[in-house]
Amino acid sequence: MVGSALFYELGKYNLKTALIEKENDVALGSSRANSAIVYAGYDPPNGTMLARFNVEGNRLYPKLCEELSVPYRQNGSLIVALCEEDLSQLRFLYENGVKNGVEGLEIIDSAAVRQLEPNLQPSICGALLAPTGGIVGSYEFTTALAESGVINGGEVFLNSEVIKIEKIAEDGSPLQDSKREGFFRLFFSNGSSLTSRFIVNAAGIYSDSVQRLIGKERFSVTPRKGEYYILDKRQGNLVDRTIFMCPSKLGKGVLISPTVHGNLLVGPDAQDGDDKEDFSTSRKGLDFVRKTSTLLSDKVDFRDSIRNFAGLRALPSGKDFIIELDPDVSGMVNLAGIKSPGLTSSPAIAKYAVELLANAGLELKENSNFNPYRKQIRFAELSAEEKAALVAQDPRFGRVICRCEQVTEGEIVESIRRPLGATTLDGVKRRCRPGSGRCQGGFCGPRVLEILSRELGVERESIAKDKSGSRVLFGKTKEPSDR
Ligand SMILES: Cc1cc2nc3c(=O)[nH]c(=O)nc-3n(C[C@H](O)[C@H](O)[C@H](O)COP(=O)(O)OP(=O)(O)OC[C@H]3O[C@@H](n4cnc5c(N)ncnc54)[C@H](O)[C@@H]3O)c2cc1C
Repeated sequence: MVGSALFYELGKYNLKTALIEKENDVALGSSRANSAIVYAGYDPPNGTMLARFNVEGNRLYPKLCEELSVPYRQNGSLIVALCEEDLSQLRFLYENGVKNGVEGLEIIDSAAVRQLEPNLQPSICGALLAPTGGIVGSYEFTTALAESGVINGGEVFLNSEVIKIEKIAEDGSPLQDSKREGFFRLFFSNGSSLTSRFIVNAAGIYSDSVQRLIGKERFSVTPRKGEYYILDKRQGNLVDRTIFMCPSKLGKGVLISPTVHGNLLVGPDAQDGDDKEDFSTSRKGLDFVRKTSTLLSDKVDFRDSIRNFAGLRALPSGKDFIIELDPDVSGMVNLAGIKSPGLTSSPAIAKYAVELLANAGLELKENSNFNPYRKQIRFAELSAEEKAALVAQDPRFGRVICRCEQVTEGEIVESIRRPLGATTLDGVKRRCRPGSGRCQGGFCGPRVLEILSRELGVERESIAKDKSGSRVLFGKTKEPSDR
């Protein structure tokens, strides 16, 4: 998300820009598995980058999502006091939020809480209302930013893990001192390489190891796992706002929130670990989420759970984001350890990163052809007249492939043919949602596979579910001669 936001931002200038990604798609790191809350900005300590970019990012979201056709809703947040002692924390958060520049904050009493959110526990004794809080489709946002970067002239290199970085002079000879101005040569795991004048390290949970490929060891990033429940749309109206408990040392605690697609999200917990690839969920983690959520509401019916998932927060060794020109490597920017509220902050971080690059000598000439708009058809959201007109124009919009989410063949084909098109089952799911509903792809999965195979001109067996190597089909169980 951070890399894609910067890629988008750099599209506003006449530059040659590359977005380099080790996986087979964007939005496969922290940016895919998170709470997707656009935080108002009342809790990061005043004076930190966390606070600055949270509040600035929050303000950028409505217009950006509108222009990029990304699902977003300013539904407001409610931070509740579970007991009398929490009330002083609400007052602290209110004052901190005002200092951070958050607009519209209000402390409300228990009666007002009940009126706004009747399904919360009656014992809740007050709340901080933050009307500027919102919810977003986090992978739609990431993909749209990256796609817009391509539309505006950038290039995306997928399946390209950066494994080595060298500093070189203009004539290609190695530079021993990385503080000297020159070029970077990046070597990828797939055997290719790329030369660039400036580089930005936005490698999420791996941003410490990428920094160490060329810089001195200055910070580390560790994973903190969070597990979630997603519930069927039947539960989606239980609350209207995002409901938080007062933050603790381990973070913002378990929340209950509607999603932009009408589901209910409950989670996360917070487990420190050292495995940066462990996205597993556990009975223990999920039980904790379930039990803790009852402090907010005991009306969530977990029998309607349709999916569990886990995300890994990228915790920097210091308390703040690491956003800087690397002091030991001229021409390199670190956007590292972008923990929560990184999703909210990403558009603002991207703007600041452009300033850092300009300070490092990047010449910024405006791209007069910059196109801020990106359109995406969501058939289910159209009026009956719009649907009829679209089907008349292209009958593939009349063929519903995903019954749960009402996604049509036309939308799936579009998601594959777009500038940064989907090549995997989950890539299609992240772009237009087949498989996100109650049956989780049980019915539409094989159909989507067929469409991918047809559109990409490849065998069905070669199509991955998700990351490279996650195969769906392995071969035939019956050959024609077996019949
Ligand atoms: C459980 C959880 C809940 C959260 N909830 C919220 C929330 O509600 N609101 C909010 O504002 N924030 C939230 N966050 C934080 C937010 O999700 C992150 O701050 C944000 O997604 C970070 O984006 P990123 O681009 O820095 O990292 P990532 O999304 O991880 O992207 C880094 C990318 O770098 C790639 N990469 C790594 N190494 C290499 C390499 N060597 N070569 C090439 N590519 C490489 C990775 O594959 C990845 O795609 C949450 C995070 C988690 C985990």
